Amino acid sequence: MTDAGKIPEGSPYDVVVIGAGPVGENVADRARAAGLTTAVVESELVGGECSYWACMPSKALLRPVVARADARRVPGLSAAVRGPLDVGAVLAKRDEETSHWKDDGQVAWLESVGADVYRGTGRLTGPREVTVTAPDGTEHRLTARHAVAVCTGTRAVVPALPGIAEARPWTSREATSAKEAPGRLVVVGGGVVGVEMATAWQALGSEVTLLIRGAGLLPRMEPFAGELVADALTEAGATIRTGVSVTALHRPAPDGPVTVELDDGGRVEADEILFATGRAPRTDELGLETIGREPGSWLSVDDSCLVEGTDWLYAVGDVNHRALLTHQGKYQARIAGAAIAARAAKDPLDTAPWGAHAATADHAAVPQVVFTDPEAASVGLTLAEAERAGHRVRAVDYDLASVAGSGLYADGYRGRARMVVDLDREILLGVTFVGPGIGELLHSATVAVAGEVPVARLWHAVPAYPTISEVWLRLLETLRG
Ligand SMILES: Cc1cc2nc3c(=O)[nH]c(=O)nc-3n(C[C@H](O)[C@H](O)[C@H](O)COP(=O)(O)OP(=O)(O)OC[C@H]3O[C@@H](n4cnc5c(N)ncnc54)[C@H](O)[C@@H]3O)c2cc1C
Repeated sequence: MTDAGKIPEGSPYDVVVIGAGPVGENVADRARAAGLTTAVVESELVGGECSYWACMPSKALLRPVVARADARRVPGLSAAVRGPLDVGAVLAKRDEETSHWKDDGQVAWLESVGADVYRGTGRLTGPREVTVTAPDGTEHRLTARHAVAVCTGTRAVVPALPGIAEARPWTSREATSAKEAPGRLVVVGGGVVGVEMATAWQALGSEVTLLIRGAGLLPRMEPFAGELVADALTEAGATIRTGVSVTALHRPAPDGPVTVELDDGGRVEADEILFATGRAPRTDELGLETIGREPGSWLSVDDSCLVEGTDWLYAVGDVNHRALLTHQGKYQARIAGAAIAARAAKDPLDTAPWGAHAATADHAAVPQVVFTDPEAASVGLTLAEAERAGHRVRAVDYDLASVAGSGLYADGYRGRARMVVDLDREILLGVTFVGPGIGELLHSATVAVAGEVPVARLWHAVPAYPTISEVWLRLLETLRG
């Protein structure tokens, strides 16, 4: 750990990265690979939200839930997996996946690529200048010859409701790190975090009530995704209430239950309440005012992740609000790292479609898997998004239960696939799969959408028999009519 720094105070680094989540780590790696001296500032744990309170712990909680559900649908195996989950073992595996909330391994990795790690909170104090306040209050000034990359991610948004402080609500951090399953858990919000955590804790023994303001779950996906996940959650024992908002909370005794008041006059009592109601950028104490930006705002960037109106400040990952996913942030990190290196070397930027310095996939081909039972996975545009964008499109649907591979995968398989076809260019703008075991199918769709593969050419990508991937053939046959 280089709290004092390897470069003497006052001497510049080539690149200073604020925030060592997956994105900051990857910007640093790319900058170092290009031979640039690099400092990384981290105020909590190197590895960021993803490693300790998001992707890794949530997927560790969900993997046994989904594996058990799959096994229960296989004749000959189902009887062997009828019992409850071993909650202690599931939580122990989750703890292992988060390295017990210790970051030594990731610090060692960053140092192995030659980046200097500074513990503390970084803030901009002028052009190309970052002041780090260490945990002991001492300050250290870092300057950057070429670039400062802000990779500070997001935090959960909790609404300012009456009684919210005394209710001590969970955010995604508590939901992914809890040491036991609450008896009754209210989950507010039907987006990805809400449905994943509802799925996990219902299976781990909680009685879950999901409260959503809108009409359905997973509103950013095709409507059938939310419908199939809602059916499964209900069958698993969860209660889903749509079209309701929380108006107030009461937890009179610190160890007692919380009462949740709703705008329809109803009340729900629970042991814990999770707000999965959105994310806000961690830019409020970043010194944005020193560069004429509003503290607390998202940092909008061009396709090389350069903050608009500057030639040295990059914002990469969640904080730029383009696609709040680890894999997209790391993709941006590779692009920003290459752009920083090219600009430092005064090389021309290759920003042509699919070039090394433009995050084009952010616009056209963002893949996402929701790790519920059934899984929901999508890439590119939904039908509604494609129509709103003015494309002349056709949606082609297929029932996954009618594919040979799905019947072998599970008895009573339920699922659906949709591809959104651009009728003018004869390529796919989006694909959605919902069903058991489809998460690993998504990359085939990502290749088709990102690669703009002509539909006529897709006929020659022959799916292996008998796999669920045969749905590709059925979708093409349905399109041909
Ligand atoms: C419950 C949950 C589950 C998720 N599951 C998935 C998933 O399965 N797959 C997926 O792709 N995405 C998932 N995501 C999204 C994913 O976690 C984020 O997209 C990803 O963490 C973004 O990475 P980042 O590096 O931009 O930010 P972060 O991971 O948030 O890292 C930012 C880092 O910056 C540090 N920092 C902030 N401010 C400062 C400062 N001023 N000075 C120094 N350091 C600072 C923070 O401490 C943090 O370490 C999930 C999110 C949640 C909430």
